[in-house]
Amino acid sequence: MAKANKYVYHYSRSKSDGNGKMKALLGGKGANLSEMSRIGLPVPAGMTITTEVCTYYYKNAKTYPKSLDGEIKTNIAKIEKAMGKKFGDLKNPLLLSVRSGARESMPGMMDTILNLGINDQVVEALTVKTGNAKFAWDSYRRFLQMYGSVVMGVEKRKGEHHDPFEAILDQAKEKAKVADDWGLAENDLRYIVSEFKKLIKKRAGKVFPEDPMDQLYGAVNAVFNSWQNDRAKVYRQKYGIPAEWGTAVNVQAMVFGNTGKTSGTGVAFTRDPATGENVFYGEYLVDAQGEDVVAGVRTPKPVSKMAKDLPSSFKELLKIRKILEKHFRDVQDIEFTIEEGTLWMLQTRNGKRTGFAAVNIALDMVKERLITKEEAILRIPAEDLSQLLAPIFDPAAERKARKMGSGLPAGPGAASGQIYFTAEAAVAAAARGQQVILTRQETSPEDLRGMIAAEGILTTRGGASSHAALVARQMGKICVCGAHDMDIDYARKTLSGNGITLKEGDFLSLNGFIGNIYSGKLKAAPSKVIQALLENKASAKKSTTYKKFTQLMSWADKLRTLGVRTNSDTPEQVKNAIAFGAEGIGLTRTEHMFFEGNRIDAVRQMILAVDDQGRAKALKKLLPYQKKDFADIFEALDGRPATIRLLDPPLHEFIGTMTPAQIRSLAKKLKVSPAFIKRRIGELHEENPMLGHRGCRLGIVYPEITKMQATAIFEAAVEVQKKKIKVVPEIMVPLVGYAKELELQKTVIDTAATEVREKHGLRANQLKYTVGTMIEVPRAALTAAEIAEHAEFFSFGTNDLTQTCLGLSRDDSSSFLPAYQDAEVVNNNPFSTLDQTGVGQLIEIGVKGGRRTKKNLKIGICGEHGGDPDTIKFCHRIGLNYVSCSPFRIPIAKLAAAQAALA
Ligand code: ADP
Ligand code: MG
Ligand code: MG
Repeated sequence: MAKANKYVYHYSRSKSDGNGKMKALLGGKGANLSEMSRIGLPVPAGMTITTEVCTYYYKNAKTYPKSLDGEIKTNIAKIEKAMGKKFGDLKNPLLLSVRSGARESMPGMMDTILNLGINDQVVEALTVKTGNAKFAWDSYRRFLQMYGSVVMGVEKRKGEHHDPFEAILDQAKEKAKVADDWGLAENDLRYIVSEFKKLIKKRAGKVFPEDPMDQLYGAVNAVFNSWQNDRAKVYRQKYGIPAEWGTAVNVQAMVFGNTGKTSGTGVAFTRDPATGENVFYGEYLVDAQGEDVVAGVRTPKPVSKMAKDLPSSFKELLKIRKILEKHFRDVQDIEFTIEEGTLWMLQTRNGKRTGFAAVNIALDMVKERLITKEEAILRIPAEDLSQLLAPIFDPAAERKARKMGSGLPAGPGAASGQIYFTAEAAVAAAARGQQVILTRQETSPEDLRGMIAAEGILTTRGGASSHAALVARQMGKICVCGAHDMDIDYARKTLSGNGITLKEGDFLSLNGFIGNIYSGKLKAAPSKVIQALLENKASAKKSTTYKKFTQLMSWADKLRTLGVRTNSDTPEQVKNAIAFGAEGIGLTRTEHMFFEGNRIDAVRQMILAVDDQGRAKALKKLLPYQKKDFADIFEALDGRPATIRLLDPPLHEFIGTMTPAQIRSLAKKLKVSPAFIKRRIGELHEENPMLGHRGCRLGIVYPEITKMQATAIFEAAVEVQKKKIKVVPEIMVPLVGYAKELELQKTVIDTAATEVREKHGLRANQLKYTVGTMIEVPRAALTAAEIAEHAEFFSFGTNDLTQTCLGLSRDDSSSFLPAYQDAEVVNNNPFSTLDQTGVGQLIEIGVKGGRRTKKNLKIGICGEHGGDPDTIKFCHRIGLNYVSCSPFRIPIAKLAAAQAALA
């Protein structure tokens, strides 16, 4: 018989059932609590109910496995033994905390419930036991407040300005004439407790459960239910966390930071998570519990001040800081509580950090020999590099700007935008295309959508551990928080500071590197990395950001095996791409060139031509233009390969958009009637141009277009070679679905080559080129073996391949894709991240087919997906030779390619 499933894991200082590696089963928090216990750190005893129970719960109409109840009871006994207290006891009561804990931390999923197990009798027992009535009643009122809202659903109603519990608290404070919660005396707290109970009964329609075991089950249910609440769903969607993972429940013995001056609670990072600097970074409060530090009710003190307030615990904490970094070999985000001078660890996890911090920390840790280069590479989310490339403020503009205030620099970067005071207003403004600064006294998980929509976030309250700071670190948002010298008036919708008042919709600028806030929109300048790479600025080359960036790129280059090319259409783009380290062009589109200057007239003449002769005349005009385009690109490439795609869009695109005035003037130039042009426009109109007369279908019907383009490429090559610059043209035929199409086009190209060689008296090896094709319709992937007979390379055009595989037009998908993402039909936009299960199969079939015919067939990918880290890893796995992406994504692609090689 199979061994019965174990659903509950115990941990205490003497013994842990689990360990830090069991995150899938125990959730991140549970696994790390076990791990900290295991290595002898002071952790209150507890138990973790596994994520499997969550899965079971949802699969079985919200019921639990039969054996769960017994396991929970056994585990409570273990906690009781470890802590020397008893749950529900009237002499020495054990209280519990109940927390959610998914595999990856998900802020905003469920609020923690503290002090569970307290009731009318237990509170008296606690008073007698500790001799501290104020503490006992403070704990009771906190429990009622948390349990009442989180488990029994007593929350702010529509139209109410305050949380109903807070309203009672405020009223009591007013009556007692105290400013803060902790100024309340025993009697005030007794009164609050009775009011809270009344409130719960009235609003929830039932009394709050006195029985500790009932309380516990209520809380456990609430944790599992929170896995499907709106905030959790939004978060999962944004970070692609599957719903099947589920959450664990952590039940832990309470330790108390609210017993007086020798107690306290805090949160800290072992290094600065915004910049990465190696300093102990955090906040704490004396005589406080739980979320007091982050709630913004009292202003917490920076952790360095603990040396004075709680000296021995601070010393121990500094030791633990070192132990944790050594053990977990990464920056830790910790939560701790001090009860009567004894330090307890309540949480540790790898700290979320900004892109800047990610790079700094990883590289510093290599230097400190804490991690290897390879680990450093694997640790930096490739996408985060975009933060290092994002614009900063122009220094001159910033010097002249009007400063309104300053706050904590919680998210590095520079943001200018229009201010909005609610998440809804921010979302709406962003949807109108505005750049938005979400401006709030403080943020909460309800603001998440607004924060996602905003360029930058400003808060006037809270500190390093506030919600705004946390989200900024996680999303890489530009953020200044806790700007205490500024004021927000929600009713008037104004933000003021330093004598300046802004209204909703006014422009504001945030410097998230130093925390400065300016009125107006500041001029931007390129990032240090871009100044150094593209503008060759000496001062920028000395910046640490740039130095660390180049160090990282050189490691990535050594480790990766996948080539990284660029999609570039102009010599300017090519130069930028090469500065970023591109190894060649993976895609040059020739149609953009057709729009340049006044050559569009010749293009239109060619399209309107009624016979071969007319077309030949127009093409002759175009040839020198195209030749120059290619020559400039070859020169910029300086010997690197260039994949040039022949004309792809339907001809209608070049004439369909003409205004009546343009039609009249063209008619004059071409000596035809405007009516004739209009008729041709009508003839060329297509119902479904994406699937119409485009790609190689143009070249099949009008081989002379292909011939002109090929000739221009070869003439350019000859010219550039004369300057002793090597040229490697790779001519790519678009939209092939039949081997015969490629065969026909290749003949045209080969003929053009022969003619150019003859004209210049060159031997075959003096003008070299290859011909290949884009694989961008399913038939091409399926018949890749046949197509490869005529191809010297393949490049997957994954934009069209996605459109044709899914039967989904990219340009028309925005009306339903968001709903698809909400309904979890798709986890990502298939046009940004490759659909590996569907389109990916076609690619694999294409690779296998192509290499069956030609073992060493060179294969790459072009299209938006080529710059997406997940797609890049996929490309590496299936053996592509290179990816190609836009110039500014090249660093990201290189890092992702290195990560793929290490995986
Ligand atoms: P989050 O996931 O939002 O960080 P946690 O589950 O870490 O929430 O809990 C929040 C806070 O509750 C902790 O920082 C700590 O102050 C308090 N807390 C949790 N468990 C305990 C406990 N066993 N004893 C005392 N305080 C606790
Ligand atoms: Mg919490
Ligand atoms: Mg926490």
